[in-house]
Amino acid sequence: MDLNKLAEALIPDENVKPLDYYEAAYPERDLPKGAQVTRLAPSPTGFMHIGNLYVALANERIAHQSGGVFYLRIEDTDDKRKVEGAVEVIHTSLKYFGVAFDEGADLCGNYGPYYQRQRAEIYHAYAKELIKKGLAYPCFCTEEELEKTREYQTENKLLPGYYGEFAKCRNLTEEEIYANLAAKKPYVIRLKSQGDVEVKHTFHDEVKGDITVTENNQDVVILKSDGIPTYHFAHAIDDHFMRTTLVIRGEEWLSSLPIHIELFKVLGFRLPKYGHNCSIQKIDGDTRRKLSKRKDPEASLTFYREQGYHPTAVRTYMMTLLNSNFEEWLLKCPDKPLEEFKYSIGKMGKSGALFDIVKLNDISKSFMATMSETEAYDFLKTWADEFGTEEQKAYFADKEYLLKVLTLCMGIGGKKRRKDFVCAKQALEMIAYFFNATFAPEYEYRFENSVVKTVLEGFKAAYDHADDCSAWFDKVKSVAAANGFATDMKAYKADPTAYPGNVSDVAEMLRIATTGLANTPDLWTIMQILGKNETMARLEKAIAAL
Ligand code: GLU
Repeated sequence: MDLNKLAEALIPDENVKPLDYYEAAYPERDLPKGAQVTRLAPSPTGFMHIGNLYVALANERIAHQSGGVFYLRIEDTDDKRKVEGAVEVIHTSLKYFGVAFDEGADLCGNYGPYYQRQRAEIYHAYAKELIKKGLAYPCFCTEEELEKTREYQTENKLLPGYYGEFAKCRNLTEEEIYANLAAKKPYVIRLKSQGDVEVKHTFHDEVKGDITVTENNQDVVILKSDGIPTYHFAHAIDDHFMRTTLVIRGEEWLSSLPIHIELFKVLGFRLPKYGHNCSIQKIDGDTRRKLSKRKDPEASLTFYREQGYHPTAVRTYMMTLLNSNFEEWLLKCPDKPLEEFKYSIGKMGKSGALFDIVKLNDISKSFMATMSETEAYDFLKTWADEFGTEEQKAYFADKEYLLKVLTLCMGIGGKKRRKDFVCAKQALEMIAYFFNATFAPEYEYRFENSVVKTVLEGFKAAYDHADDCSAWFDKVKSVAAANGFATDMKAYKADPTAYPGNVSDVAEMLRIATTGLANTPDLWTIMQILGKNETMARLEKAIAAL
């Protein structure tokens, strides 16, 4: 059979150039020894999973630590999954977490185009080459025929796929092929696999260590009927011509590794190093399962932005998932930038990385407790501008006021910083009572209304906004005493039944009346921040509600 003629008949693409053109157009990169070229290669589905950040961080760290290049390639061969604006989502969501690409889609770079749909010519050139060498062939099987084969294989407990006796089009004659073409039957191009499933090799996976891989024997599709390549074929060509040295990708690709090894081999390309990282899992009842896009809001990167997690906190948490020795380093060097941690691919988890939102929240709280009030103001404002309610946006109108609130609520200047703020959304909800528009108290006292009423009235009558903290507290005590509450804690502890309660119960009533909450930072300071009129108004409102 004239294979050159067949290649022309099957892939009539005028743009295709001789292969050495591509080798010259995308030369080896001029990088220092040991520099790694890595990439993120997502499909533009518009959804960014936390696993994308995990993989992106690993690839970014490896590239940048080694003086290499980290680029973005858009794998848009599956048109059905494509969503408008998805590439922008990829850039913005990753940039938020400090992951920036050196080159790639929507950026500059000499190894593009970085959208696979714009690279048809290169894929066609190499598919043609394989046909010419007798290593690929057209397949005219219909969906129904393939389905029948699948059913037969399932019934007979045979390995699924297009191989051996099931590869019906593998040995079509020249006449049959041209007759099918003349009849305008649609066709795909398949690899003519040279592998044997009986043969196994040891393969060094950068994350998992030495693993055994079975040779591929599947005649996988390399070009679909519309001439668009499959992921397998496209990634091999792209990683070669973009001069990728290391592919860190999700372990769901591990089962395709034999196909990829064969494809690199038949294409005559050097195989990059591969590392398959484990999926991110969570504990769900008694089981451990993958974080699911459908069930778990925290699976989406958008979640962290919408909640207003500080990017450094998320990044720090991701590093704890990525490298087992990171936390130890963090304890030793809490003030160093994360970039100084020597990330190592060998220390990535080999099984599942367990996602624990409680731990993320702890890291976030500790991180937010390192911020100054102005840093917190700026961070919260940026969040509120994008995600906040109209009332929350208005919190930022009086900067001086809000800075006082933040100073108090973050414990700045106190003995110990408070660690109450987890993320922007929760922080702004926490300080809502400082603002009239969002002050919506549900007064829940632990004492009879009549008792609360005399306490509030007594305090209101005695209140002097000019009192310092200790004069203020003396007044709380005298209101307590006037209502029979203990002011001497020793006496109270000796015989608690002798009193309705003690001074802290009285302070709690005042706190609930002023803020609607039983737990807040220092009440005297809160009243100072609210100002005389507002404090009075709140006491009156609380009395009226009794
Ligand atoms: N497009 C593939 C995905 O989204 C990329 C896998 C790879 O990194 O090679 O999963």
